Amino acid sequence: MREALDSKPLRSALGNFARAYPQARETAYEGIDFESLREAIETIKINAAENVEALAQRFEQKVTEQGGKFYRAADGEASASIIKKIARQHNAALCVKSKSMASEEIHLNHRLKDILKVVETDLGEWIIQQIDERPSHMVMPAIHLSREECAEIFSNVLGTEVKPDIPRMVKLARQILRAEFLVADIGITGCNIAVAETGTMVIFTNEGNGRLTATLPPVHIVLLGYEKLVSRFKDIGPLANALPRSATCQFMTSYVTMISGPCPTFKGLGNDEVVQKELHVILLDNGRLQLLKDPVFKTIGQCIRCASCLNVCPVYGLVGGQVYGDIYSGGIGALLTAFLRSPQHAEKIQELCLNCGKCREFCPAKINIPELILELRSSIRKKIPPPFLNKTIIDHLLHHKRMVDISMKIGAPAIRYLRRLPVPPPAPQSFNKICKNLKQEIKQHPDQEGKKGTIAFFYGCLIDYFYPEIGESMVRLLNRSGYRVVFPDQSCCGAPAVYTGLEKSAKKMAGKNLQQLSTDVDTYDYIVTACPTGTVMLTKHWQHLFENDPEIFHCTEMVAEKTVDFIRLIHMLQKQGLLYGKRTSSAKEIKVTYHYSCHLKRDSGIDAEPREVVSAIPGVQWIEMDEADRCCGFAGTYSMKLPEISSQLLKQKIENIEKSGAEILLVDCPGCLTWLRHGLETANSNIRVLHTAVFLAEGLSRDTKSF
Ligand code: SF4
Repeated sequence: MREALDSKPLRSALGNFARAYPQARETAYEGIDFESLREAIETIKINAAENVEALAQRFEQKVTEQGGKFYRAADGEASASIIKKIARQHNAALCVKSKSMASEEIHLNHRLKDILKVVETDLGEWIIQQIDERPSHMVMPAIHLSREECAEIFSNVLGTEVKPDIPRMVKLARQILRAEFLVADIGITGCNIAVAETGTMVIFTNEGNGRLTATLPPVHIVLLGYEKLVSRFKDIGPLANALPRSATCQFMTSYVTMISGPCPTFKGLGNDEVVQKELHVILLDNGRLQLLKDPVFKTIGQCIRCASCLNVCPVYGLVGGQVYGDIYSGGIGALLTAFLRSPQHAEKIQELCLNCGKCREFCPAKINIPELILELRSSIRKKIPPPFLNKTIIDHLLHHKRMVDISMKIGAPAIRYLRRLPVPPPAPQSFNKICKNLKQEIKQHPDQEGKKGTIAFFYGCLIDYFYPEIGESMVRLLNRSGYRVVFPDQSCCGAPAVYTGLEKSAKKMAGKNLQQLSTDVDTYDYIVTACPTGTVMLTKHWQHLFENDPEIFHCTEMVAEKTVDFIRLIHMLQKQGLLYGKRTSSAKEIKVTYHYSCHLKRDSGIDAEPREVVSAIPGVQWIEMDEADRCCGFAGTYSMKLPEISSQLLKQKIENIEKSGAEILLVDCPGCLTWLRHGLETANSNIRVLHTAVFLAEGLSRDTKSF
């Protein structure tokens, strides 16, 4: 990992691509209703998974009717043995192959090396084949190599110096590969879609190598996984609409090849007798059938291998697929690895996922990768525990509020010192203590009859121990809107346990809180949190933890229904005219920018609310920051677990904050606040970082001059 993080060529290749991708993709999707498209893909794929055996039989029937030979292979060994048999029947020595992730997955080239010379014909694949590396990206296998590194590879292969000139290298590769195509005995391809109704196999390529591989050699072998099956020919439509747009930001790839049965070809080089090709189709299982039946993970089978999840993943953008991946890269790679290889192989890879949720926004197959990663983590942690210290803290300390209180006094400064973590010093008095004596001045609005209602505040550990001022500000704002705030007994919401995969502990913590919150839930108008992770716990994870316990699940539903994130609530109150009266300002304008925490934006779907609330304050100039919703790297325990990655993400975020020219950075997540303050302090920046609640409360009581 260190090597990847320190590699300038890698960082620049991945960084340039990651920066260009979102805009190019947006252009490619112009005029397309992405939500409807991905729903259509989801429906096609769900239907295919539910009827996989019937589709496989229909596909087999169609392939054989059209003159192809059909095989089913349980795994890599079975696939290789089928291919070897075909090769022996034809005395084959040379095989050209177009890019196929399924063949990478089963290490096909390695398995065939005793009997066949296999030449990769996709340019990126050919380059990495020369240095015996695996692909680092599902669509651009050599993205991790700089043009200079590629030139060195060309020079070594050709025995003469090749300059790092891309068009020249492409030309050279074409010359080398054309010669191989013309004499190859066998061509092996994968396929992107396999239609059961017609036996058609569809291949999308840009280099034309897929079509040459499929048509020139006298024998064509297609290796495809069960998940490529779809029911009807018309199912190709939505997939063809999404795949090139998501993968390479194109309306369509340069070549779309549809193969329904063997086609005629020339007998060989210099022999223009036309003969019928042989077509062999191998349907590969290798864990897929189990995956497609799995009640929790079956949606992984919806993946169309477009790699857009990698293109927007902040971690992938830093370290690439050689670090963040096995054969398949990124979050989806970890999930595929767990099923197509083994959960043990996925253990380390899945730890790299920040759970920021960016991939979920972009996935055209509507796969909830972050949620599945948490499921995978939890199932792995039942067999392989996390490091001893993490487990001990989560399993034995966080349940007990009293012990956390004591540890905060003694432990926090020590941890801060020993681990050099950006943990702020604990507040002199916890919010839990402060709130007991908090004087609430509830505003009577002229148009309201008496007080407006009661809001329960679930403040969470960071506000309790480190930032009680956020809690106090929030109470003032809600009082101002006519609400009384109450503080039910509470302890850790269980987020550290959920994100570490310790389900048993998470249940224990959630259960304790639920007991307290659900007792008086009917009397609350809302349950508010000022921490987006807390909101997600109360609205989503608690329900998930108790989905098999109807009685407790009912409590989680009641709590979730009343729970709202602070900024959304304030936005509602402001819209009702309950927050500010008429305000004027002659004060100097203050420039404010905003960082969207991942859970706020992508789990709670909060987007325009902070901007609308903050911009409504006279004298405030809202500046949209570049990549405002990109993860800052905090991600709860992640920043302690993988500080090398977190600190790089922080660095990128600090650059964007400084570039915005703002004087104040607002955040709604106390965790991001800690991390960003640390980043700005380290960079000697004068930019202040405030929780939105504190900023708004300051604005209530003072003239805007005082900001
Ligand atoms: S998980 Fe979704 S975004 Fe990622 S490769 Fe698969 S289809 Fe594409």
